[in-house]
Amino acid sequence: MDPLAVPYPDSLCHRCAAPPRYIRTPTSVFILCPILPDKYPRQPVRACPAFKPREDDPDAGPST
Ligand code: SF4
Repeated sequence: MDPLAVPYPDSLCHRCAAPPRYIRTPTSVFILCPILPDKYPRQPVRACPAFKPREDDPDAGPST
């Protein structure tokens, strides 16, 4: 997904393997976390104890 097409493109959620769901309304896009009890964490998420990087994350370096 193009991060520019979603809110808070620098949010950690966009790079998360959770994966987040994008709830679209006519005027907004909400990021729904399927893991945290608080389904809609305050954005942008900068740090998250449940974060796991997506395997296709282009920013992820080799896991050495
Ligand atoms: S686990 Fe954390 S980083 Fe991943 S989608 Fe949920 S809130 Fe975002």
